[in-house]
Amino acid sequence: WAMTLHIPFDNSYARLPGAFYTKLKPATVAQPTLIAFNEALAGELGITGADDPRLAPVFAGNVLPEGADPLAQIYAGHQFGGFSPQLGDGRAHLLGEVVDQRGIRRDIQLKGSGPTPYSRRGDGRAWLGPVLREYVVSEAMHALGVPTTRALAAVRTGEDILRERPLPGAVLTRVAQSHIRVGTFQLFSSRGQYDDLQTLYDYTVARHYPGVKSPDALLARVCERQAALVAQWLSLGFIHGVMNTDNCTLSGETIDYGPCAFMDRYDPNQVFSSIDRYGRYAYSAQPDIIVWNMAQLATALVALMPDADDGVKVFTEIVHGMADLLRAEWLKRFGAKIGLADPQPGDAALIGELLDLMHKGQADFTNTFRALLEDDARDQFTDREAFDGWEARWRERIQNERDPEGLMRRSNPAFIPRNHRVEQMIAAAVEGDDRYFHHLNAVLARPYEEQPEAEELRHPPTEDEIVPATFC
Ligand code: AMP
Ligand code: MG
Ligand code: MG
Repeated sequence: WAMTLHIPFDNSYARLPGAFYTKLKPATVAQPTLIAFNEALAGELGITGADDPRLAPVFAGNVLPEGADPLAQIYAGHQFGGFSPQLGDGRAHLLGEVVDQRGIRRDIQLKGSGPTPYSRRGDGRAWLGPVLREYVVSEAMHALGVPTTRALAAVRTGEDILRERPLPGAVLTRVAQSHIRVGTFQLFSSRGQYDDLQTLYDYTVARHYPGVKSPDALLARVCERQAALVAQWLSLGFIHGVMNTDNCTLSGETIDYGPCAFMDRYDPNQVFSSIDRYGRYAYSAQPDIIVWNMAQLATALVALMPDADDGVKVFTEIVHGMADLLRAEWLKRFGAKIGLADPQPGDAALIGELLDLMHKGQADFTNTFRALLEDDARDQFTDREAFDGWEARWRERIQNERDPEGLMRRSNPAFIPRNHRVEQMIAAAVEGDDRYFHHLNAVLARPYEEQPEAEELRHPPTEDEIVPATFC
């Protein structure tokens, strides 16, 4: 007999004041069918009933599981540098929270689940493509070791929705340590709702940073986590695509997989997002942007400091200190990629020279680093003699390292969710074939291991497979 679906909800956000959300139910859809249910994650969350026939209706929003208290969260945010005083979940419903097996509180949220008071001109829906992209890429990021929201379920709604053309609708169930954003603080601060700002601060500290005693300490901790996160993105060739302040979490998790992508050829100016016309969120702009976002968090938090002048001074120092944090995290991550367990500031030049050669030769980012391990990186370069010179200096540098190979194997994935494969997966799913989606998930769950049977997922796109832009 199958265990029935049980989600052990305990909903702390729903107990906050009404200014934080609108309580409302998800929309009902025509014909929910389950695409995927992440049983391993469900286990972590204490959810039982993986074979309950109600999975599809529950994770489509048609049936409310016992204990859910659905709501849409309100927030604000800077979008491409311009301030939107009021945003919010325009197509998402927080069902509630569970405390997982490690004692960490996690949100369970439906995305694409119908309109809310914050939908503006949107339809409240998601189509299959972005739902499956978020499922595959967020789970791949987790397997790569990057703090991220997770994917618990994906469901087809059985309804078409209108984008440039009619496309199949879908709902993603996202799990996050919370959905508190820089933009949540900006909402209350910009409106002068200081009691709510204080409540949000207290809630955030209790949930994510127990022990933190002051707003400046909170800011410093978030800056540390965000610097570490962005350095990890860079080390994997990941481009988030929409680093708006409403897509920047207090928990330090990657959130909102819209027009994101991993780059193939190394190009620091690479942009994928079709809406990022000026390259604000290009690969190499990400460190500057995260500092800018933390400056917005500082601006929102400073009202909570007992002395305004002193607060501004302390906050300025913390935000300016992020440049050093980012440099240190970058050096640690890229040092590991070339086998250095304890890289020194002088090693930045060695890493920089390799990246320059890769840029000039249009080398594949992921495969070049992995090939250093496999002793055939030379083939990745157009100027092979220049690479030989670099390689000689590198070999000398790693001579006394204890286990450079092991470190490199853990720091340079063989498999990433390459953009053209993600697009091919979406095209198949639109035709009703989910096999490639499941294949990608299975391979990307072990990104650092050799998987000879999946070799084609390591190939960069051919000229006509290149996906120059991503839409969401
Ligand atoms: P994003 O760029 O994905 O972070 O979205 C920005 C804002 O637009 C968020 O408040 C979303 O909830 C909202 N939004 C995006 N797509 C839709 C949609 N199809 N319907 C309603 N709201 C949406
Ligand atoms: Mg968003
Ligand atoms: Mg989005």
